[in-house]
Amino acid sequence: MTPSTAIIYLRNYFYEGVSATSKRDIQMQLEDRTCLVTGASRGIGRGIAERFGEGGANVVVNYRSSEDEAHEVKEVINEGPGTAVVAQGDVAKMDEVQSMYDVTAGEFGQVDVLVNNAGITVDKKFSEMTREDWDRVMEVNLGGIFNCTKVCYDDIREAHEGRLINISSVVGQQGNYGQANYATTKSGLFGFTRTIALEMARDGSTANCVAPGFVETDMLATVPERVREGILERIPLDRFAEVEDITGIVAFLAREESSYMTGQVLGVNGGMEW
Ligand code: NAP
Repeated sequence: MTPSTAIIYLRNYFYEGVSATSKRDIQMQLEDRTCLVTGASRGIGRGIAERFGEGGANVVVNYRSSEDEAHEVKEVINEGPGTAVVAQGDVAKMDEVQSMYDVTAGEFGQVDVLVNNAGITVDKKFSEMTREDWDRVMEVNLGGIFNCTKVCYDDIREAHEGRLINISSVVGQQGNYGQANYATTKSGLFGFTRTIALEMARDGSTANCVAPGFVETDMLATVPERVREGILERIPLDRFAEVEDITGIVAFLAREESSYMTGQVLGVNGGMEW
């Protein structure tokens, strides 16, 4: 090796060493943080829970009915640096949310990070939408946000840099044909997040919203092919999001790097206008 190649070798080694170390350090910033993810048995919630586990977090995997899937997520996390527990509970029911919190507190103590991810759709044109269709989506997508935030609120405020992260949608920004109920709940999260951000700011804790575009999960799978094609035409990056496109942003919001960011809506939508 000539002196000049040795210098290049050492420089590359140094840079790669530093960047690999800092990448690992950043990821491990969630070590020993207790993170509760609602609706973590499938889709985006599952991805978030597993990402938190990779960061060394204590992860609570909430689900409503997909018990086997939730246990699978727990096992995946426990094979890595994180520690997971499963906590069943319909976010729309306060008594079940309280049980979910009790499992969390019993296992890990206080909650540092809450991700309000659980959500449903009941799609119909407004002319055909019943009050029942409306109420069901409100109960889960907004009632669930109230219930889960309520039981974790004091913990998040008292935590060192507590985090509330709400999963909204580009549909809350744009509206969407057949989704008057769903779009209303997702817009509602903007006002909620902004207000909680103001109310928690003195405690050094933050509240932010992530508004994904259209993500390849079971939820998107229910959309007819013809409609999917129409949506795709409106996405400048010309593809639907993968779950991983969303989870990195959520992990960033959970970490220290985002300390000075609060009350914001982060659009992760392939460049869609709103
Ligand atoms: P998904 O694949 O349908 O998964 C939904 C998850 O939420 C499941 O784990 C489900 O658990 C859980 N869940 C549903 N109702 C619940 C309840 N009442 N209590 C507790 N858990 C409940 O949905 P996703 O696509 O991952 O969506 C996750 C979030 O991202 C939602 O808030 C959605 O609005 C939002 N989002 C999705 C997209 C998209 O294109 N996929 C785009 C923007 C925003 P069980 O199976 O156990 O019921």
